[in-house]
Amino acid sequence: MSAPRLLKSYLSGRWAEGTGRAQTLVNPATEEPLAEVKSGGLDLAGALEHARKVGGPALRAMTLGERGAMLRRMTDALQAHRNELLDLAVANGGNTRGDAKFDVDGAIFTLAAYADLGKGLGEVKVLADGEGIPLARNPRFHGQHILVPRTGVAVHINAFNFPAWGLAEKAAVALLAGMPVVSKPATSSALVAHRILEVLTEAQAMPEGALSLLMGGAGDLLEHLGPFDVVAFTGSSDTGVSIRSISPVIKNSVRVNVEADSLNAAILGPDVAAGQETWDYFVKDVLRDMTQKAGQKCTAIRRVLVPSDRADRLRDDLVERLSAVTVGNPELDNVRMGPVATAGQLEDVRAGVAQLARDGRLVFGSGDVKAVGVPAGKGFFTTPVLIEVEAGAPAPSVHSREVFGPVATLVPYSGRADDAAELVGRGRGGLVSSVYSEDAAFTADVVLGIAPFHGRVFLGSAKIAEASPGPGTVLPMLVHGGPGRAGGGEELGGLRGLGFYMQRVALEGSRPVIEKIVR
Ligand code: NAP
Repeated sequence: MSAPRLLKSYLSGRWAEGTGRAQTLVNPATEEPLAEVKSGGLDLAGALEHARKVGGPALRAMTLGERGAMLRRMTDALQAHRNELLDLAVANGGNTRGDAKFDVDGAIFTLAAYADLGKGLGEVKVLADGEGIPLARNPRFHGQHILVPRTGVAVHINAFNFPAWGLAEKAAVALLAGMPVVSKPATSSALVAHRILEVLTEAQAMPEGALSLLMGGAGDLLEHLGPFDVVAFTGSSDTGVSIRSISPVIKNSVRVNVEADSLNAAILGPDVAAGQETWDYFVKDVLRDMTQKAGQKCTAIRRVLVPSDRADRLRDDLVERLSAVTVGNPELDNVRMGPVATAGQLEDVRAGVAQLARDGRLVFGSGDVKAVGVPAGKGFFTTPVLIEVEAGAPAPSVHSREVFGPVATLVPYSGRADDAAELVGRGRGGLVSSVYSEDAAFTADVVLGIAPFHGRVFLGSAKIAEASPGPGTVLPMLVHGGPGRAGGGEELGGLRGLGFYMQRVALEGSRPVIEKIVR
């Protein structure tokens, strides 16, 4: 058998081969090796400087409208290679075709959304931040906050679960803001990100130095960060902490955005009875979040809060639907759920399930599975797992351990909004939680109770069921991130996201001059 292809990094405007120990990327369903990466011996300081000195000026010379046009070229290039990217996501990510679309189409959609935002801003290079402010009786003495691109480089470090969307959602915002990007995908699923860079560079969609890609480990990349650079990281809390603690990051006040773990909750309102439309909608969203991408979504519902008097019925409904989920090779059309991404991830899921189960009892899924369409004993498969705790049980692990797989826990509660909010708050900060109810007063009470702990709150109602992709989908128009456990970061949110990559400056002076700068 020939050795798998070595994937090069794209740094300083060219493809560069790393040296040293190879890491092998595999198909998580069959364990077949797909490619190798090596990140030793690469000049990472030089790559950052090339981005700052070549990519940055090229982007800053463009108006926001021109940067929007660049994002449109990137969108079109990826759209033209969509099927190929989907195939790679199935092979290297353990994704079903539907999961792969979620990632790849999400990337294309987000790039397109920021292309449109840039187009709408048109021929400007400076963004006004709010209205002008009179500073004295003399109307000429005037103030205005503006946003200008930072002159450093944006380093993006992404998690394994969304190799396409993770790269695109960060790059779209930074590039529109006018900052060059060095992106590092998680190694295990990096084939898709690598192909994206090939497609974009072949299409000459961006100016030289605007977008680079580091394959493999981060090496000493972050040791070379300077005062005008930024880091946007998605991954585990522990890695987030170590990135924040790197000495040049602290010394140079490097801006860091962290998107980390989250114990997202979905609350069923006491007004919702079994068989109603909102009930079915709730069950469908819980099921989708448990099985889509084998539960490896940072926004997936982990805690299912249900009024105690209908917990039995909800459990039975979920168990019935989970029993019908076919697990196996995601290349097969009849497979609903593929494997998790790596052997390490599977081990982590198993250990997490054992820990959560000590808080309550396992009501569905032992974890062991006979996966269809794969050689016996191969692949990183688990069943979906549903755990149930007793009403009022402290369940410390359920509220503190994120199991990054197809795992959720039923948590019965009193049906009161304040009790629900107290339980959700035990998660110590999250990305998104949701409330499913047709009772506006209950919904409002829950929203006000849980909003301080989240970046986003989803209001589930039968009235939006047709139109909405559910709480697990991150939309570019709304902010993504959350306080506390979730990392304290904030991404996207339309134009809000640009702020991270730009310097806010207060101008104070003569009104006509200021108005000339901010047209
Ligand atoms: P991870 O182990 O923290 O890795 C994330 C990224 O960081 C990978 O690219 C990894 O590279 C890199 N990395 C690891 N150690 C590093 C270091 N010392 N310096 C610089 N980079 C380093 O997390 P993961 O296992 O890939 O992702 C799963 C976690 O991500 C889950 O906890 C999930 O909740 C979280 N997540 C959050 C969001 C969100 O938006 N909030 C989205 C998705 C996932 P290698 O792959 O080369 O090791």
